[in-house]
Amino acid sequence: MRRFFFLLALPLAAQPELPVAWVRTSVEYAALSEQAYRGAAQALEAALAQPQWTAALEQKPGFAGLPPAVILDLDETVLDNSEHQAALAAQRIAFDNEKWNAWVAQAKATAVPGAIEFLKFAQMRGVALVYVTNRTCKADDENDPTVRNLRRLGAPWSPARLLCRTGSGSDKSARRAAVAESYRVLLLVGDDFQDFVSVPAEQNSIAGRREILAPHRQFFGQRWFLLPNPMYGSWERVLQR
Ligand SMILES: [Mg+2]
Repeated sequence: MRRFFFLLALPLAAQPELPVAWVRTSVEYAALSEQAYRGAAQALEAALAQPQWTAALEQKPGFAGLPPAVILDLDETVLDNSEHQAALAAQRIAFDNEKWNAWVAQAKATAVPGAIEFLKFAQMRGVALVYVTNRTCKADDENDPTVRNLRRLGAPWSPARLLCRTGSGSDKSARRAAVAESYRVLLLVGDDFQDFVSVPAEQNSIAGRREILAPHRQFFGQRWFLLPNPMYGSWERVLQR
């Protein structure tokens, strides 16, 4: 009880280890992740049965005959980096590019609960798995640490379906559009709002993001599946605005 009051008395930013502890220890985190992936597996069956179903706002008309695919983010969607986040939290560091690159190079991220089972299920159903990530990686290099990490976890992977960060921007809509040229996108799976929609810079505020969410709210749990990530995300960057 004393500990509880102690936590309440401190500003949230002074307790960076709490969100990490929740991810690394709570049954709630594991259950929420598995819940998202179980929902995605059910939606996949419905999506396969309906040729007019698409999850990508970037999908152009005439897509019904295209082969089916699911687009997934990697970090905190398929790959669990909470070990790295815990090390940062212990040092009271929010983000450090050098430390991040050193972590990625070790290729030791574990799998988010439910992810591998879902990936294997989708593969068995003949659905292409496309990873759209803001990691800097080399998809056609089998020694690339992200590639090695995916392989180590048994995640289905192919060079053409790993779309790494391009240029300096983190927006994913151009890559989603490229995927939607060749595939009917059945589902989007991610831990960040921007894994689903584009947020223009001028609308990147708490109110602006809520406005963008409003017309797409019903997509979540239906064709968009959101994994919990209280550790970091684009939500953080609007807090000061
Ligand atoms: Mg992510």
